[in-house]
Amino acid sequence: SKVPPIILNNGVEMPQLGFGVWQVPDGEAESAVATALEAGYRSIDTAAIYGNEEGVGKAVAASGIPREDLFVTTKLWNSDHGYDSALRAFDASLAKLGLEYVDLYLIHWPLPSRGRFVETYKAFEKIHADGRAKAIGVSNFLPEHLERLIDATSVIPAVNQIELHPHLQQPAAREYHAEQGIATEAWSPLGQGKGLLEVPAIVAIAQKHGRSPAQVVLRWHLQLGTIVIPKSVTPSRIRENIQVFDFSLDTEDMAAISALNEDRRIGPDPATFDMA
Ligand code: NAD
Repeated sequence: SKVPPIILNNGVEMPQLGFGVWQVPDGEAESAVATALEAGYRSIDTAAIYGNEEGVGKAVAASGIPREDLFVTTKLWNSDHGYDSALRAFDASLAKLGLEYVDLYLIHWPLPSRGRFVETYKAFEKIHADGRAKAIGVSNFLPEHLERLIDATSVIPAVNQIELHPHLQQPAAREYHAEQGIATEAWSPLGQGKGLLEVPAIVAIAQKHGRSPAQVVLRWHLQLGTIVIPKSVTPSRIRENIQVFDFSLDTEDMAAISALNEDRRIGPDPATFDMA
């Protein structure tokens, strides 16, 4: 099924649903990504720290899909902050992917206590100006980090990829992004598949539509305008997660899911996360 695009603030089109490959070993990434591409995904979300850029690159090359029809995102890891190290880290990622450009390059975490993300982002602006990243953005930035970044640089991030699912709905961040023209992208959109997919309200909506809980949660994100990158290595689930463009949730369903917010993170707090 065809995934509709979100138009980023620089005019670049990004598929609203993509395939995430965190925790997919390099040796399995090629076949998982190949399955995703066959199922119709055209956007892949990887990162230097995932250690699978080579596997992703192999699947992309083997697919025969024209480069301009694909959207590849990768991210700069925490140990590579700084202007020169960011340029080097980008070269390394591009070489592993076997690509001439990425569609989106993200700063993985802000590490605010180290105070280097502005410097890092200036290297991103250079990479963007050189056409080697069609769009640049950030991940795990709180509004206060975005404010600092926007004050000190000239390219407004196209995307902020943050933890976002029905148990952590991030209303303040989403509102700030909308004001600034930054697209919100949800990581762990399924809450990592843990308790969320068994929540009775979600199961009931799934039964009502004859769909799976995962499909219902993905629909909720899509109808709010969020970009999603669900992950699975199970072929049937990879296909299931993209079969979400032929039904929709009604106002009541949307409200029932929006009532599930608990402001509860699964992952680290970006204000303090400092792992190199
Ligand atoms: P997710 O919310 O996509 O959940 C994935 C898990 O849910 C799977 O491992 C599986 O157990 C289960 N699942 C998937 N499809 C299912 C289905 N149809 N039915 C039942 N269970 C299903 O979690 P994620 O992998 O953490 O996040 C998605 C992507 O987001 C990652 O792969 C990665 O690309 C990105 N990410 C980014 C950051 C960041 O810091 N920027 C952090 C975490 C994840």
